[in-house]
Amino acid sequence: MVSWSDLYGSHPQTSSSDCPQAWVFTGEMRDEGRYGETCPCCRKQDFRVTYQVREQGKGISFWVCLECICQDDVTAKIDDCAIIGQARRDHLGRLAVRLMHESCRDIIRRVLLVSCDPDLPEIAVYFDRNGQLSPGRAAVLFTALAECGIEVDARTFEVQIRSAAHKKEFALLSEQQKLIVWPALSPAIRKKFSALRTAPKRRTLTQALERSVSAK
Ligand SMILES: [Zn+2]
Repeated sequence: MVSWSDLYGSHPQTSSSDCPQAWVFTGEMRDEGRYGETCPCCRKQDFRVTYQVREQGKGISFWVCLECICQDDVTAKIDDCAIIGQARRDHLGRLAVRLMHESCRDIIRRVLLVSCDPDLPEIAVYFDRNGQLSPGRAAVLFTALAECGIEVDARTFEVQIRSAAHKKEFALLSEQQKLIVWPALSPAIRKKFSALRTAPKRRTLTQALERSVSAK
């Protein structure tokens, strides 16, 4: 991985060896609301939360991924104490999860204001408790979001599919419900469900694709 100093240089009065920690985490984090961001440092893609770094003594700042904010040449502090190594990664990772959950709660609050679906209040409570949605609850919420015209990245919400009960819950969804939950699942899980023959039928997927193409 390329270091910050390699990419952007260090403070003009010092070399990177004199001042190896010229870049500082500002404490600002952002949930971009969708996956597919590109980190300006490592060019990694497909993450959602970004962290702001600023060069000490300068106004230049960038929004970067977790990997880059955890590099040794970035200083990060909590209450004036520097956090390093795995402790930093764990702490910032936890903050990212909290931020993403808050974004999800915002989306649920928005749909609760405009949808009359009687199942939504229970789904809001379930998400509050679990930070995830079961497949059936995801299907109801995603349908309500689509009906209310609230656009969100399908992967904004994590769908529970690890347990046998959740796999069964997905298998028992209607074709239409499976189709609306499908984009929220990871490629590995989709492959697994295809092997288990619980994926939406190929014909249904093709029809959905044709509808989305003709709608554009
Ligand atoms: Zn990066």
